[in-house]
Amino acid sequence: MHDQLLNAIDARTDDLVALTADLIRFPTVNPPGEAYRPCAEYVGERLKKRGFGIEYVRGEGSPGDTDRYPRINVVARFDGRSPGPCVHFNSHIDVVEAGEGWSLDPFAGIVKDGRVYGRGACDMKGGLAASIVAVEAFMATYPDFPGSIEISGTVDEESGGFGGVAHLAKLGYFSKPKVDHVIIPEPLNKERICLGHRGVWWAEIETKGEIAHGSMPFLGDNAVRHMGAVLAAFEEELFPALDRKQTKMPVVPEGARRSTMNINSIHGGQTEDFRPGLPSPNVPDWCRLTIDRRFLLEEKIGDVKSEVTSILDRLKRERPKFDYQIRDLMEVQPTMTERDAPVVKAVAQGIMEIFDREPDYVISPGTYDQKHVARIGHLYDCIAYGPGILDLAHRPDEWVGIEDMVQSAKVMAVGLDVLLRGGRGG
Ligand SMILES: [Zn+2]
Repeated sequence: MHDQLLNAIDARTDDLVALTADLIRFPTVNPPGEAYRPCAEYVGERLKKRGFGIEYVRGEGSPGDTDRYPRINVVARFDGRSPGPCVHFNSHIDVVEAGEGWSLDPFAGIVKDGRVYGRGACDMKGGLAASIVAVEAFMATYPDFPGSIEISGTVDEESGGFGGVAHLAKLGYFSKPKVDHVIIPEPLNKERICLGHRGVWWAEIETKGEIAHGSMPFLGDNAVRHMGAVLAAFEEELFPALDRKQTKMPVVPEGARRSTMNINSIHGGQTEDFRPGLPSPNVPDWCRLTIDRRFLLEEKIGDVKSEVTSILDRLKRERPKFDYQIRDLMEVQPTMTERDAPVVKAVAQGIMEIFDREPDYVISPGTYDQKHVARIGHLYDCIAYGPGILDLAHRPDEWVGIEDMVQSAKVMAVGLDVLLRGGRGG
């Protein structure tokens, strides 16, 4: 049924590989947000040649936005011959730092053994390239299609998406009637549809003390020891309780199918790096801890917070001189698109056509830009679907398989045909 469309994608394999490699060669490392403009313009220039209207939208005033590191997003739109729904493909163009341990240049876009290597290959320049090629093949095969197609390359996903999808969503870019369906080609494996993610609560806890000479700690009050009591209570009560909370959400990997909390950092007392000076002997009068709590659809954010504050309040009652402050840093509700939502069914049909099997439906352990589409744009017909193996993201020698990109481009193209043309192929 879709032979012509699928052949058009096969014929573009070399182009898909070259596009992926080119995207990797922009070192769009975030933080600080390097090379955003040239990367966004590269995508914009390509799509302009295919007849798309191009907009560059800067995330003015968002965290990290400066003239040295402007948060430049690209949004491309093509309106078909007749009215109809709009399908939007959204990819983030930023990547995390390369880090140590690479056996090849992370920003050279090296093609080898059926793979494209580089930082961002799987997360998610391979997905961006696959969606572009899927759209181009679709437009060439069915030039009379109704409705509209949008492709965006957005910034700052790796740091929360504030200058990227959140900024665009506030401006109405991810709401009806402009957009109806959103596909985010994050690397969730080509046979899986990602329906959403767990919730997040980040907070900073501070314990207070009283400064004194280190030789006479009994004269002061040690904030680090107070934090030690917090950590001990977490170990004894909180972590075992979180472990027992199972979810019906199909989170992958399975270890994340319950509540989790990470201790992101702890700081107190004199700086760890006193060189070239000398350490000075004090009783620390403050200690700060940041926590990263991931919660489930079955949990309420209020309960999630009170689990922590009830422990702190108890310590305040029981432990002499104990006092604390807690500050919210970030809060994201869990989100899960319904399995019978149009975009889910359309991409599922693509997976069935290409792989001759039902898709796996999964939930991501961490959040991605879908949160802004749902929370700010109030658009709930949104999934993540794209090539690449999630476990390779953010790791040395990151790669994306060429065959995976081709196949997932086919899935996206069939999904597009279902959403815009009723899936009739031809
Ligand atoms: Zn990503």
